[in-house]
Amino acid sequence: MQGDAHVLVVEDEPALRGDLAEYLAARGFRVDQAASCKESLGVLDKRRPDIILLDLSLPDGSGFTVAAAARQKYDLAVGIIMLTAFSDEAHRLAGLSVGADIYLVKTASLREIDACCRNLMRRLRSSPSSSADPTAPVWDLDEAHWQLMTPDGVAVSLTGTEIAFLKPLMDAPNTPQERSRLSPRGDTRNLDAVVQRLRRKVEAASAHPPPFKTVYGSGYVFTGRRKGTG
Ligand code: CA
Repeated sequence: MQGDAHVLVVEDEPALRGDLAEYLAARGFRVDQAASCKESLGVLDKRRPDIILLDLSLPDGSGFTVAAAARQKYDLAVGIIMLTAFSDEAHRLAGLSVGADIYLVKTASLREIDACCRNLMRRLRSSPSSSADPTAPVWDLDEAHWQLMTPDGVAVSLTGTEIAFLKPLMDAPNTPQERSRLSPRGDTRNLDAVVQRLRRKVEAASAHPPPFKTVYGSGYVFTGRRKGTG
């Protein structure tokens, strides 16, 4: 029913891990299991799960380590559901700050966990390039002349650094790109300053807002349409 959706269940308590794995498998997910940080990282090295159901306190460390490793390796392509006994706000905020998509306390029912996995899969599958907005303004990147063409038909002159930022974004509309991909030689130190300057240039030239947005904790995304595509 979930097609090939793949869930990694990370939980050190064998009975709970078994219940979760069995229930999700019965609901149509492909399930991998891990009982520690080390085992989880081993699974992540081999393949990308669609969703990680993640216990926070593990015998050899914290689930935050696993979440951070998953984000670093697969960015936003993996959904993270944190499942933990802690319910206080500090833990919840810590979970969200490492990029957990959903935070559940362990009193959640199996049915509720299954519903969260389904919702998250829908979100993951509908987000990237498939959700291009057909009414979004059309921009174009003229690499030969180092220009960004605005929907109003104005040419904005670009620096090499700005092209290095815009090209990967505009090649893949609505798909978040990591900061290191958007910076010359992967050096992200000046990226925010570059983007700020570019925003001001675009704002001065066009009635349309700059077509790139920050993706929290990750990078940027191009939200317009590019001429000649979708
Ligand atoms: Ca635990």
